[in-house]
Amino acid sequence: MSSAVVVSSENLDEKQQSVSMPVVHAVEKKVNLLGMSRAELEKFFEDLGEKKFRAGQVMKWMHQYFVTDFAEMSNISGKLREKLEKICEIKAPEVVHRNYSKDGTRKWVFRVGDGEGSLVETVLIPAEDKTGARKTLCISSQVGCALDCSFCSTGKQGFQRDLTPAEIIGQLWMANYSYMEDVPVAERERTVTNVVMMGMGEPLLNYDAVLSSMQLMLDDFAYGMSKRRVTLSTSGVVPKIDQLAQDIDVALAISLHAPNDELRNELVPINKKYPLQQLIAACQRYLAKDGNESSRRHVTIEYVMLDGVNDKPEHAQQLLKLLKNLPSKINLIPFNPFPHAPYGRSSRNRIIAFQKTLSDAGFVCTIRQTRGDDIDAACGQLVGQVADRTRRAEQWKKKVAQRQEILRTQG
Ligand code: SAH
Ligand code: SF4
Repeated sequence: MSSAVVVSSENLDEKQQSVSMPVVHAVEKKVNLLGMSRAELEKFFEDLGEKKFRAGQVMKWMHQYFVTDFAEMSNISGKLREKLEKICEIKAPEVVHRNYSKDGTRKWVFRVGDGEGSLVETVLIPAEDKTGARKTLCISSQVGCALDCSFCSTGKQGFQRDLTPAEIIGQLWMANYSYMEDVPVAERERTVTNVVMMGMGEPLLNYDAVLSSMQLMLDDFAYGMSKRRVTLSTSGVVPKIDQLAQDIDVALAISLHAPNDELRNELVPINKKYPLQQLIAACQRYLAKDGNESSRRHVTIEYVMLDGVNDKPEHAQQLLKLLKNLPSKINLIPFNPFPHAPYGRSSRNRIIAFQKTLSDAGFVCTIRQTRGDDIDAACGQLVGQVADRTRRAEQWKKKVAQRQEILRTQG
């Protein structure tokens, strides 16, 4: 718990106290319960001298009925409700912008942190599947990203800060709430069916906060989602993949994007630290940990299709070899261009030919549909109008200009 104001008379010596100045008493900042895991919330209630089962009750109110006002929590005594109101709050990050597209896609821009804060984005993409209507929420884990993949606009912002568990789970809370705002509390239900950690940031570099948020997603007292329907996407932080294997059971997606180290070093620079062989081995260990779990039967391989860069027949052949011993499904992502990006999107024919090579060899290979184009909401492309607070974008523009100059002079 942190203090909002720390000036108090005890801190001042006699001489200072004789000067006429306002004495401001310490005001404790309210504790936000939204991001607390079940274990944390149980401890919180025990520390208050209350029974642990209160944690489950409050979790249900927050995450299943989308209630933020303690006064509405009818199975909790009036005395405890008053106490909770004084010391804690239930608060999702502030929405500064929302956009609901005609095709059902919804996007939110949140302000996180104090004062002016920073902006992060979340997008919800609906789709029909065998089991009915699917609503997939693409959640951010950091403001910006330190890893600087060459085709990613988040990377161009540089890293600003990690999101807290409340800011991460708050995105899921808000997306669900957006469908339930006008529904009476007793009739409210969870609408989002799938979560992908594919928004801004590298989730494995904000490990603890992402882990406790995903625990809430799976917890029956919170969102109770199936572990097959919660996917963590990583560019390949190998040691953290091993840690994840021990800590939680969720589906794993790997942002591969290149079938050999030389090209991957250029597109996904973390490959220089954890090259392909190490990455594939970590995926195999992840699947081996609980091979029969529905969430661990395969990894999803994400492969962004960059015109003339990684989309040639020889790349498809290399990919086949690389994935030979890794149960995987491949998702080809048409590149989403952004200003000053040095790449173009592969042609539809190129993408289909690439897909055919992989499918003919027995892989399940899909092409990601681009949705929500009218609100600039595609996954991995969430930073449209977010302010760039670092100089990295400037440096990037220079780098692109240099490359273009080299290409021009080379003829
Ligand atoms: N940092 C994690 C998760 C966020 S990126 C990761 O890299 O996996 C989510 C996905 O969007 C990744 O597969 C990423 O490679 C992809 N992506 C990023 N920029 C993109 C772009 N301009 N066009 C298409 N996909 C992009
Ligand atoms: Fe970071 Fe993922 Fe973008 Fe790479 S693709 S810069 S890891 S957010």
